[in-house]
Amino acid sequence: MLNSRVGTTLLQSLNRRAFSPRPRLSPTLSVRLASARPLRFFSSSPTQDKDNTTTKSPHTKTDWRNMAEQDITKYLRQTHDRVFEHNRCWAADKKAQDPDFFVKLSAGQNPEYLWIGCSDSRIPAEQITGLEPGDAFVHRNIANLVCNTDLNVMSVITYAVEHLKVKHIVVCGHYGCGGVKAAMTAKDLGLLNPWLRNIRDVYRLHEKELDAIKEDDARYDRLVELNVYEQCRNVVKTASVQQSYAKNKFPIVHGWVFGFHDGLLKDLEIDFEGILKDIQKIYNLTEG
Ligand SMILES: [Zn+2]
Repeated sequence: MLNSRVGTTLLQSLNRRAFSPRPRLSPTLSVRLASARPLRFFSSSPTQDKDNTTTKSPHTKTDWRNMAEQDITKYLRQTHDRVFEHNRCWAADKKAQDPDFFVKLSAGQNPEYLWIGCSDSRIPAEQITGLEPGDAFVHRNIANLVCNTDLNVMSVITYAVEHLKVKHIVVCGHYGCGGVKAAMTAKDLGLLNPWLRNIRDVYRLHEKELDAIKEDDARYDRLVELNVYEQCRNVVKTASVQQSYAKNKFPIVHGWVFGFHDGLLKDLEIDFEGILKDIQKIYNLTEG
C-alpha cells in the first residue's frame, strides 16, 4: 500500500535521524551544555554535597516536606535560570553553525508534519524524532485526543492543513500513558471525567477485543494503540483533511506509538485510504 510505505519510510527515516549513533548536537553545544550549571535541588538525603545541594535527574522526586523555605526559593530560582542558560547556549550554537539560522526562522514556517501527541513530559516531539525548528507544527494534550468539540485541536488541524499545507499528520500515543490508565480505572476523576470519557468510549467501541485480553498490561498497551487508531479516524473525519486530500493527495494520516523501554516509535500502519473510504459513507465532507 502506498500510504503504508510512505508512513514506514518516514518513520524509518525519523528513527534513523533520532537514534543515529552520530550525536545531533554539535560538539560546541555539547560542551556548553555540559559546562552549563546543572539543575540542582536541596534535600536532607545522604547525597548532599557541601553546598547542601545535589544534582536532580528528571526522574528524581524532590522531598518538599524536608526542605527549608529558603531552599525552596533557591531551588525555584535555579530551575528557572537553568532554562535561560541552556537557551543562550542553544541560540549561540545555532548561530555558530549557521549565521543565517534565525534570519530564516524569522521568515516564516513551512512544516512538513502536524504532530498530535500526549502532554506527557517524556515525549518531546522534536527531540525523539530529530526534527528541527520549523519541521513540525505541534499540538499536545492529555492522551493525544482529537475531539470534534475541542476548538483547540480543531483549529490546529484546520490551520495546519489549509494554511501550512502539512503533508503528514501524526497522532502519536505512548505505552504507559497515564491518561489511558486513568480511563481504565473505575473512579470519579472530577473535571477529568469528560476528557477521559473519550478513551472510555474507545474501550466501549473495542470492548470485545479488549476484554478477550486477560493480561492487564497487554490490555492496557492495546487500548493505547486503539486510542491512537480512533484519534486518527477523528482526524480523517475533519472537513479540512478530506477536502485537502481530495484535491492534493495530502495530508496522509499516521498512527504511531512511542515506547519508553527502548525510545523507539512504532508505526501502527493504519490504512489511511481505507479509513477515509470507510468513514466517508457517513462523514463525507468533501463538498465545499
Ligand atoms: Zn500520555
